[in-house]
Amino acid sequence: MDMQTSFLDRLFDAGLLIETGVEGLYGRSGQFEDVITAFERLIDRFGGADGAEAMRFPPGMNRAFFEKSGYMKSFPQLAGTVHSFCGNELDHMSLLQCMEVGEEDWTKDQKATDIVLTPAACYPLYPTIARRGLIPAKGALYDLQSYCFRHEPSQDPARQQLFRMREYVCMGTETHVTDFRQSWMDRGVQMMKDVGLEVTIDVANDPFFGRAGRMLANNQRDQNLKFELLIPITSVAKPTACMSFNYHQDAFGSKWGLMMEDGSVAHTACVGFGLERIALALFHTHGLDVADWPENVRKTLWG
Ligand code: ATP
Ligand code: ZN
Ligand code: MG
Repeated sequence: MDMQTSFLDRLFDAGLLIETGVEGLYGRSGQFEDVITAFERLIDRFGGADGAEAMRFPPGMNRAFFEKSGYMKSFPQLAGTVHSFCGNELDHMSLLQCMEVGEEDWTKDQKATDIVLTPAACYPLYPTIARRGLIPAKGALYDLQSYCFRHEPSQDPARQQLFRMREYVCMGTETHVTDFRQSWMDRGVQMMKDVGLEVTIDVANDPFFGRAGRMLANNQRDQNLKFELLIPITSVAKPTACMSFNYHQDAFGSKWGLMMEDGSVAHTACVGFGLERIALALFHTHGLDVADWPENVRKTLWG
């Protein structure tokens, strides 16, 4: 194999990822999906006894909830909105004319719909739970999975624009949610070990936009609010975040009105698995042909 060939090109050549002509937007082969399915079963084995309530939302969310979340304050550069044609027949004619001539941007008259693309699997959950009423004193636990959109086109196969995030979200007291987060950090390390992946865990921050964002990022780090589980994929020097462990304190509780039975504001934490990244870490570490993977790894994933 030519040493210059990038990991992305090797994934295309092997048919594991399917080119679409857009960076970070890929089809995936049956084999690739099979690895993700098997890894999700492993997640179920580790988390299944906790009694989390499973919910699956589509990859778009209510725009009003997205606006209220404050996502545009923190990450305007990553957001994706869904716009549609809402005109009459005359507008349609000028739209087609515009597309035909190709000089003007035909999307300029598209109107925002009530849907935006989900930026993280847990975003639709908070307003849903707030609507239900009080959170029981023993805390509450949810199991989510969603395609997520982030506008961060890249040649790095581990940085995609549409990717799947599996998440567990805990709501409760500070102790509930920090214990939850710690137990998933331990489980994450164990799970990755079971599938033959070398990991490190490090404190991290979200890519808050702009100069004011720099302060938010520093604060997040100083307070140990975000940790990442890192695995080398495209670089050993800069390993890739394949899981993240986020403690929101009572920020989401206050924002969404998540109240405990005793009247206090709920604390929340979420743990996210980057499913494509984990599959890519497995292919990078064990080779592009699953048949050649170490026997113990195959056994962990497929029994
Ligand atoms: P990074 O620092 O690499 O941008 P992140 O901090 O933005 O990652 P989170 O917002 O914590 O990641 O998202 C949860 C998980 O989703 C991450 O741990 C990662 O595994 C996965 N993930 C995030 N962004 C992407 C992406 N662009 N492509 C694929 N997976 C992603
Ligand atoms: Zn989350
Ligand atoms: Mg990111």
